[in-house]
This record gives sequence, structure tokens and C-alpha cells, in this order.
Amino acid sequence: MESHLEHRDRVGVQDAVLLEDYTNEKAFIENLQKRFNEDVIYTYIGPVLISVNPYKELNIYSPQDVKGYENKHFFEVPPHVFAITDTAYRSLHEEHREQCILISGESGSGKTEASKKVLQYIAEVTERKGEIETIRDKLLVSNPVLEAFGNAKTNRNDNSSRFGKFMDIQFNFEGSPVGGNILNYLLEKSRVISQSPGERNFHIFYQLLDGGTDEQLNKLNLKKDFNSYYYLSHGDKAHNFKREDKKNFREVESALSTLEFTPQEQDDIFFIISAILHLGNVGFTEAENKAVIVKPELVDNIANLLNCDREKLRLSLTQRTIETIRDVVTTPLDRELAVYARDALAKAVYDRLFTWLVKRINSSLQPSDARRNSVIGILDIYGFEIFEKNSFEQLCINFCNEKLQQLFIELTLRSEQEEYEKEGIQWEMIPYFDNKIICDLIEEKHKGLIAFMDEECLRPGDPNDITLLAKLDKNLSYHEHYISHKKADFRLQKVMGRDEFRLIHYAGVVTYNIKSFIEKNNDLLFRDLREAMCSSTNTVLQSIFLESEQRSKKRPDTAITQFKNSLNNLMNILKDKEPSYIRCIKPNDTKSPGIFDEEIVRHQIKYLGLMENLRVRRAGFAYRRTYELFLKRYKSLAPETWPHFPGNAKDGVQHLVCALGYEAKEYQMGRTKIFIRHPQTLFRTEDAFQLKK
Ligand code: ADP
Ligand code: MG
Repeated sequence: MESHLEHRDRVGVQDAVLLEDYTNEKAFIENLQKRFNEDVIYTYIGPVLISVNPYKELNIYSPQDVKGYENKHFFEVPPHVFAITDTAYRSLHEEHREQCILISGESGSGKTEASKKVLQYIAEVTERKGEIETIRDKLLVSNPVLEAFGNAKTNRNDNSSRFGKFMDIQFNFEGSPVGGNILNYLLEKSRVISQSPGERNFHIFYQLLDGGTDEQLNKLNLKKDFNSYYYLSHGDKAHNFKREDKKNFREVESALSTLEFTPQEQDDIFFIISAILHLGNVGFTEAENKAVIVKPELVDNIANLLNCDREKLRLSLTQRTIETIRDVVTTPLDRELAVYARDALAKAVYDRLFTWLVKRINSSLQPSDARRNSVIGILDIYGFEIFEKNSFEQLCINFCNEKLQQLFIELTLRSEQEEYEKEGIQWEMIPYFDNKIICDLIEEKHKGLIAFMDEECLRPGDPNDITLLAKLDKNLSYHEHYISHKKADFRLQKVMGRDEFRLIHYAGVVTYNIKSFIEKNNDLLFRDLREAMCSSTNTVLQSIFLESEQRSKKRPDTAITQFKNSLNNLMNILKDKEPSYIRCIKPNDTKSPGIFDEEIVRHQIKYLGLMENLRVRRAGFAYRRTYELFLKRYKSLAPETWPHFPGNAKDGVQHLVCALGYEAKEYQMGRTKIFIRHPQTLFRTEDAFQLKK
């Protein structure tokens, strides 16, 4: 049989705090790789779970596996997303502490799969009867709907979430799920109008075309041929339909019914989807600087699908009305602006449809009992992004990650400290990098990057990207985390363009290109288009446009300010919850099983701050365990404690450590737990135990 040491050699250690040299990144990666090669994808850093995407089905998520983690102590079972979930669930149920599970990692690293496993675990360990069963089913089927409308094939991930998601599961007093709520963040709506080579539009378009019945497609005036639609004809041409599109469409339809969408609502959703596809085919020519619609009958068809005013829709695509203080002026659009208006309409309609779907799902997930329930929240949100070209979207995403890092620092350091205090253990604060300075650079009132962006967007005259960049350079160059292209850049060596600025994020340096910042931040939809949409009798369209119309007598907040506000709202929700962390890592860039690319993994370890995380964890004590459990495992190692120690567990452990010859600096005795400073001490003990066995 394999000895304990041989096993450790082959499979590595299950908790990185047990690595001898915790500052050694290479050893850390080697440990992950060893495990990965043995199909062991999970590893801890203390309570934090690291998950390495296996890119193949592993037989570790069956109902038996769920059973294996139910009511088990965290460290008695191998690391697993089920262990994290079980711990969170029990802490909620037994200690009444609200929970959140924060999942991060780059695209394709396995975040969404992990979040589904969390849900699966909860669904399987809670009882199934009556109303609870209904809610449970609704929670489970909300995923396929969100994925159909919010996910797409990208070059990094065939099923990439193009939005951020925070899902709340609400539990009653008995610990049964009774409701849920979803918050969505920043859908990548530009995907509706174009996709990079090899990528696809959102799944739902293909699902409808491939999976819809003839009758359905007839009603929607659609052809089963993606090449007929301009908005689907970029990107991945060869494999536009995927094997599972048809099957997934059935799943979405049945999910919509489970979620109690009315037949009318379901129809209205697909009328909108069809209208968007047709909208993409509307082309323009130009006569005397005025856009002319090439095939007006296409627009009439869209008006029919949406049941909106034909004339209004035609006009809205070729002219623009501006209300000034004195009067109302209508000006024709040139061809370029007409294309812009058309695409803006498609994006706005899709984006609002998605938000409406989430709201509608939420109303179906509302608990029937209004008494206060306790929640486990699951955050599945885009990780830090550094591309060749970084734009407005990357700024938003990276800002989000700065905020999450802030929260991580606050919560982990706080809980470490709390535990030491509670246990009466001596502990010195360890130094760490606080990224608040970067958050402030971005969001501080009146003098942060967002404030200057908004100021420029709202400035009368002709605000444009170049004037914006000049403003940022002028006002932010003093900051040590902001680098203007004018500043000599010795440190970072890479040359910058005149239309770029650079931020030194906690996870690395990112160069942003200012192009389209103003347009994306303004996120304007011409008033004529809004009015055309408001004339529709499509119930979904009505509710998504009328509502915002009524609110928007005032100018709506800019895109980044809305995002900032929703992030700060999220931080407030998360702040008073007990967090668990799942850090996902992608082992290669080719979506392949069995390949562990050290360089690619190294980058992610850096962006996820894992070495820092390990350092904080190890700065104190590598290992801690309650006296009862420590004694139970090792009692055979001292004559006083074997086979049974008559006194209390703490005294028993004291006997044990004396018998084992622990030196005073190796450990501390807390109120309920023993704290061991170095892993070697524990290994010695474990080896002795294995020998005795
Ligand atoms: P992310 O949400 O981080 O972008 P996903 O969760 O969508 O990534 O995972 C991308 C793909 O990787 C999945 O579609 C699946 O094929 C594979 N994958 C991820 N996690 C696992 C896992 N635990 N087991 C097997 N395959 C996985
Ligand atoms: Mg995802």
C-alpha cells in the first residue's frame, strides 16, 4: 500500500498552507499541477477553495458524492465545492449567519459551473415537498433561461456568461429554500450587433432558429438559416448552429413555463428576438447627406412583429428630434448615423429585454411568506481582464474586481483577526497591499476617474474621446496609479499610444484605449427610437420602454455611474455576510483536458492574489483545529489519552503535545482550538499517527 508520504508526493497537499515554503510560487503551482494530473481539481488555501478547470467530466458530482459531504467537517473530506457549500449552508442554518459564496476567475475558468454545483448541492440536501419543491425547481431552471439570453460562444469559452450575476437563495427557519432573487450586471450588449471571428451572438438567436417549430418560425417570419441575418453573419460562420441548440431551446421553453411566464409573454419575447434579427438587415443608402432605407418593407415587417407604429419606426431610423429650451428641431440622419441608430436600437432592446427577464424571473421566485428569510448569495462575476486592447468594458470589469479585492481584504483579514481574538491568541497585524487607493482613483467624488468622465460627457459643446483623455491626463497624472502617455514610462517600458492611458491595478498594469468611451458612457438612444418603441403593444416592450420613459424626465445616469452605484449596492449586500471564496483557474487556452500550462496558470495566480492570500494565512498559524477533533484523531499518540481521555479535550491535547515534544513556539492553545504555526509540526504528528495505525 502507498504510504502517507508517498501519497503526499503523488497527489500533493490538499491545503497550500501545508507547503513547506509558502512564499515559493513554483512550489505552489507544482502542487496544483500534481493534483490536476491525478484529476484532483480542488485545493484549499485555508478556507478558500481553488478549482482548476478539468475540461472533462469528472465523476465527483453524483448524489453519492453529495451524501459524502453532507454534515461532514470541512477537513475530514477532500476539498470540494460541495464542502464549501455544506459549510456555508450549515453556518446559515445553525449559527444564523448570512452567507455569500464569491466565485472569481477569468473567462472559461469554471465559475458558472461552480455556481451550478453550489445550487445542485443545496437542491439535493434540502427536502422536497410542496411549495419548497416548486421553488427548488424554479431556482434550478432559471439558469438555462439566463444562459440562453446572457451567454454566448467566445474564443475563451463555448458557454461564456456575458453578464455578471448575484443570485440569492432564501431559506426559511427550517433551512429549506423558499425563494430567490437575481441581480444582473452589465450585459455585453455590443455582441448583439457584432461578434469577433470564431464567436457567436447570444445563444437564444440560434436556439430559436434551430429549435423553433415551422409554425413558430412562420409566425415570427423567420427562416431556419442564420446566414440570412446580418447580426448572425459575423464571427463563427462554419459552426453557427451547435449540437445542443435545439435541445436547449426545448429546455428554455419549458423553463419559461415553470417560471410561470404567460403564453403571451413568451410570444412577446420571441417577437422581440425576431425583430432584432430583422433589424440587422435594414440597410441604408444616402442621398444629399440623408439616409434612405433600402428596403422599407423590412421595416414594415419589424413594425408588424413588434406591433408598433410603422411610420414612427421608419422615421426614427432616419431622423432625430432634439428638444431645446425654445423649440423642437428635427434633423435627418446621414447614413452613418442611421446605422448607428439602428444598432443602438437593437442593443438597447436586447439589453432591456434581458433586464426584464431577470425581473420577471425574480417575481416568480418571490417567497410566498414575507417573513424575513436568511440567504446564501452566490456571486458569479467576470474576473480581472487584461487584453491586447482594453476599452470601456474592461475598465468597468477591472473596477469591479478592485472593489471585490477590497471586500476580500476587509473580510478575510477581519475574520482572521476575529478568530484570533475570540480564541485569545497573540497575533500581530501583518502588512498587506491595500488597494483602496486604486478604488479611490476610480470612484472618488469630484476627483476620481468616473467623475471626470461624467463631467466630460455632460459638458455642453463637443465632448469627444480626445478631450476626455486630455481631461483625465490633466487631472489624474499626479496619481501614482495613473500613467498618461505623456509621462516617461521607464518602469513599464511598453510604448503607449496617444489615445491611451494606463492604470496600475492591484493585479497588474492595464493600458486602456479611450476610443468610444464617451459614446459608451453616454449610452444614448435617440428619443425618436424610444417613442417608436413606446407605440408598441408588445407587453414586454411596453413595460421596458414606458417605465424608463416615465422615470427619465431627467437625464439618466451615465453607464459607468449606474454601474458604480450597482457595485456599491452589491458591496453593501455582501459586507455583512460571511464569505466563502472559490477561485477558479483555467489550465490552458485551448479548452483541452489534461493540459496544464504553467505560464497561463501563473498569470491567474497573480491576478487572483493567491500568493498574497497564502502569505496572510500563513503569517499566523498554518493549521487550527478544535480540541475535540484534534484529540479524536491523535489520541493514540500519548499513553494518557489512549484509548480514552477522562478529562476535558483541552487538557487531553495538552498531554498530547507534551508527549509529541512540541516546542512552545510551535503552537498556541486557544479557547476552543489548538493553533499550529508550521505545517512541518503537523506532518510530524500525522506521520507518527500513520505509523501507529
Ligand atoms: P466561466 O463561467 O468561468 O467563464 P464556465 O463555468 O462556463 O467558465 O466553464 C467553461 C467550461 O469549462 C464549461 O462549459 C465546461 O465545459 C468546463 N468546466 C468548467 N468547470 C468544470 C468542472 N468542474 N468539470 C468539468 N468541466 C468543467
Ligand atoms: Mg460564466
